Amino acid sequence: MEKKEEEEKNVETHICNNPDCKNEGKLRCPNCLKLGIKKESYFCGKECFKSYWTEHRKIHELCKIKLYNIFNIYR
Ligand SMILES: [Zn+2]
Ligand SMILES: [Zn+2]
Repeated sequence: MEKKEEEEKNVETHICNNPDCKNEGKLRCPNCLKLGIKKESYFCGKECFKSYWTEHRKIHELCKIKLYNIFNIYR
């Protein structure tokens, strides 16, 4: 059963997830998008995304574990 996720339309400012970078995050990690991760999923560009990938991917692992909880909250 697939449920189409509503995209947020309110324009929020996100900061690049790379801790060494304080640029505005405009690129959203496609994996986070799939997993429904809203926080920590933005990057200013592909460079930061790539360079922080090894760290960032851990979020996906965590999220997969937490996915059940998210579903409960999300309903
Ligand atoms: Zn991600
Ligand atoms: Zn960045």
